[in-house]
Amino acid sequence: AIPLVLVYADWASQSLGVFLCLVCAEIHRSIPSISKVKSIKKDDWEEHQVQFLAQHGNMVAQVTYEANVPTYYYVPVQTDCLVLREQWIRAKYERKEFMQPGKQSPYSNGLKEGILWKRGRNSEQYLPRRFLLSERECCLKYFIKPDAKEPKIAVKIDSVNAMFQPEKIGNPHGLQITYLKDNKTRNIFLYHEDGKEIVDWFNAIRAVQLHYLKVAFPVASDQELASRLTRNFLKEGYMEKTGPKQKEPFKKRWFSLDHRRLMYFKDPLDAFAKGEVFVGSGEHGYSVTEGLPTSTQGCFTWQHGITIVTPDRDYLFTCETEKDQQEWLAAFRHVLQQPMTPQEYAIEAYFKLKP
Ligand SMILES: [Zn+2]
Repeated sequence: AIPLVLVYADWASQSLGVFLCLVCAEIHRSIPSISKVKSIKKDDWEEHQVQFLAQHGNMVAQVTYEANVPTYYYVPVQTDCLVLREQWIRAKYERKEFMQPGKQSPYSNGLKEGILWKRGRNSEQYLPRRFLLSERECCLKYFIKPDAKEPKIAVKIDSVNAMFQPEKIGNPHGLQITYLKDNKTRNIFLYHEDGKEIVDWFNAIRAVQLHYLKVAFPVASDQELASRLTRNFLKEGYMEKTGPKQKEPFKKRWFSLDHRRLMYFKDPLDAFAKGEVFVGSGEHGYSVTEGLPTSTQGCFTWQHGITIVTPDRDYLFTCETEKDQQEWLAAFRHVLQQPMTPQEYAIEAYFKLKP
């Protein structure tokens, strides 16, 4: 064990001289070429190894290995999926991508092209598709045939979002891309067998987004703009919902809350939503309450109700468990508490126009 120093971590990399949490320690251990992982308490440490650790440590490693992390690059947190965390460790210590500027070309040069496996719209099959991301055109495209001139879709980068969804997609490298078409959300489900490649795509999208935002908002700082790149859904899962008359039988649907957009799908991997609900702010006539109105007539099987009130109509949902209900309520309250931005007033207006 290591004497003298007060150590909160249980693990350390003897070769890199950094302390590690359990999850990072496991990833480091799976890549022996970059790191020799030892337990602080259970393994034996020689005097010179302790010295090395004392002289290095996480701060020194950060200055060395993270000297040139681009603003847009997504640095994973503890709750992120394995592929993001593993590739971050490989990028830092194995590929040494951030030690010098100019080593980030797979995602930094504003142009990325390659094959990704895309889920078919009406089938569960994943097929190879050529994707093209262009900073100059501010656009993400994909092509059905490798040599096709006309893309199947061409989406402006400011409506694109990307998030890792390994569990939902059923692939450890599964990436969900959403974009807006006629103000409705469209989903694309992708993967690439190579973890580096899919994470490079993710960061390339963020790089092009940051470039776009810098042009659109020249006074804002890079840090401020970086917080507006890709985002995860606030919550996802099954609920039951009834129709606008509130007499219809409740139907089980998959819901995704993308900030102020609550979408529902028949199947979690559907290409587009059956409907979307705009969740505004509390000061603008929106609210959420636990339970259903006593007058509710439609028949439902799940017992944990949620009512969302909007200026136009009420939406009634039921959750299978109380835990689910409380998580949804917390997510809705989080959104309702935030004041609406001018852009969000414009989105609300679109929802009101909808037939
Ligand atoms: Zn860690």
